[in-house]
Amino acid sequence: MATTRNQPLGGNEMPRFAGPASMMRLPVQDDPHGLDACFVGVPLDIGTSNRGGARFGPRQIRAESALLRPCNLATGIAPFDAMQVADIGDVPINPYNLADSVRIIEQAYDRIVATGCIPLTLGGDHTLTLPVLRAMMRHHGPVGVIHVDAHADMNEAMFGEAIAHGTPFRRAIEEGLIEPARMIQIGLRGTGYATSDFDWARERGVRIVTAEQCWYRSLSPLMAELGPMLNDGPVYLSFDIDGIDPAFAPGTGTPEIGGLSSIQALEIIRGCAGLPLVGADLVEVAPPYDTSGNTALLAANLLFEMLCVLPQAHRGASP
Ligand code: MN
Ligand code: MN
Repeated sequence: MATTRNQPLGGNEMPRFAGPASMMRLPVQDDPHGLDACFVGVPLDIGTSNRGGARFGPRQIRAESALLRPCNLATGIAPFDAMQVADIGDVPINPYNLADSVRIIEQAYDRIVATGCIPLTLGGDHTLTLPVLRAMMRHHGPVGVIHVDAHADMNEAMFGEAIAHGTPFRRAIEEGLIEPARMIQIGLRGTGYATSDFDWARERGVRIVTAEQCWYRSLSPLMAELGPMLNDGPVYLSFDIDGIDPAFAPGTGTPEIGGLSSIQALEIIRGCAGLPLVGADLVEVAPPYDTSGNTALLAANLLFEMLCVLPQAHRGASP
């Protein structure tokens, strides 16, 4: 481990609106070796079914992340003092071929996870979680999953295609990448194709907390309750920005009304502290529909919060 840790470029060293727009203004490097965690972009949107634009997500999240400062004042965590972190750039997906992109993503994450570096992904549409979980499987075995989303993403197929942004968790369960009894989906809502849409996952032991079950309440008690179940093995956090209400996060491809608040999103992620997290993603940010930049700003903040709950972020933290 390097003795000098990477730190984000400070706002008093270079104006926040200037300089290269890496995630949180961290150093950029190709090689994940020696890193405890990395930010990595997957500029993919050919798996989307409605509005496109998530290919621009990683770049816009990086741009908005320039405002972030290195310490978490709410939780007392200074992740860059405890961990070596860098932005390792984007995965060069094939914009003409989804199947090939999935292969490229799996290969890229294989290389990252093999070094022991924890990937925090800037999406990109939700298709990307399938190849990421395939790579996780190879190095960690099946994982527990916290999945925040308006949608279950458990479709059998979309337009006859097995791989799309509405199918990753169906495929992942079928392939044994996830332990369904250690999976929870939070924020599901909206219109569906059949009233039985959530049954396939429920029958396999997945716990579903609909958006309605989250309305008007803090989600901290839910997260505390999940601890013992999730602690049983490695955990992956997959956060679709459309889990949050379009009032807070309009810049996404398939918005649904009545969603979580940005405060509830913070409660979910902060509630992951202490869990054996092996990776996380923040997906479906579509900048063309994000006229204020607030969706990407929210995404950037949530990715920082994810970094702050990694087990390594707590090393040496003062009580
Ligand atoms: Mn999704
Ligand atoms: Mn969704």
